[in-house]
Amino acid sequence: MSEAAGRLAGRTALVTGAGRGIGRAIALLFAREGAEVAVVDRDAALAEAVAGEIAAAGGRAFAHDADVSDEAAMQALAASIGRRTDRLHALVNNAGIVRRRHFKRLTRADWDAILGTNFIGAVQCTRSFLPLLRGAAGASVVNIASITVRQEGVRLSAYAASKGALESLTRSLALDLGRDGIRVNYISPGFIRTDMTERYMSKWLFRKYLKYRLPIGRPGAPEDVAKAALFLASSDSDYMTGTGLVVDGGLTLRAI
Ligand code: NDP
Repeated sequence: MSEAAGRLAGRTALVTGAGRGIGRAIALLFAREGAEVAVVDRDAALAEAVAGEIAAAGGRAFAHDADVSDEAAMQALAASIGRRTDRLHALVNNAGIVRRRHFKRLTRADWDAILGTNFIGAVQCTRSFLPLLRGAAGASVVNIASITVRQEGVRLSAYAASKGALESLTRSLALDLGRDGIRVNYISPGFIRTDMTERYMSKWLFRKYLKYRLPIGRPGAPEDVAKAALFLASSDSDYMTGTGLVVDGGLTLRAI
């Protein structure tokens, strides 16, 4: 791939949780648009596979295995990437987990795991990469939140709280980091077909319900979210900060 081609040509990007699902689609699209991509996942083999796919298509990528909830690991990752480049143009805080349980059954360990990955993971990742983000002209942080912030899902209290905190953090960081030339925005995906959601799709009644709820008539694909992430990471959105894009096919429109 020529360096001059693409909306992220000459840029560097890092995507967490990029071994599969939405993160993988973002990493592949960013690479296709000319970025050099750090593919980060806690599963080394998955990260390697995605970086390999990018390289096979003529793009540039490096695989890194790191757990975003591990502060020391994130600092080590930033130090390692910092030895190769002094700038990071786009950081996508995508790594996330869900444990669908009633509030009564969620343990303290569940809360720690969910908030530790979905919220503290994004805090740590952004903190660790701040010097590299500050070194890049037009840097952009994209946080992957969720529609559950506004339209709560049943048995999702810890997950929704973690995403609500992430959305709120986005606005605060946009204020705190604006003068450093860093924009911070979020995406709220609706129902996107990935390993995280696939078990619901096997239920006929759920598929019927989803069809009724979705004016666009189909569940989302990871690539639908990736396109929004590309927009927020690129200069096409350079007057946007502290805000979000809902990518839900209209799922949240219907009241009853
Ligand atoms: P998947 O479960 O398909 O993929 C998530 C990836 O993140 C996996 O590769 C996973 O690794 C990795 N990951 C999880 N925890 C960590 C961690 N602590 N450190 C590093 N990597 C980690 O999820 P999706 O692609 O569906 O979701 C991506 C993001 O989008 C999440 O933040 C999710 O909350 C959000 N989202 C998804 C929606 C959907 O409908 N799919 C809707 C709204 C939001 P491993 O294989 O080890 O688990």
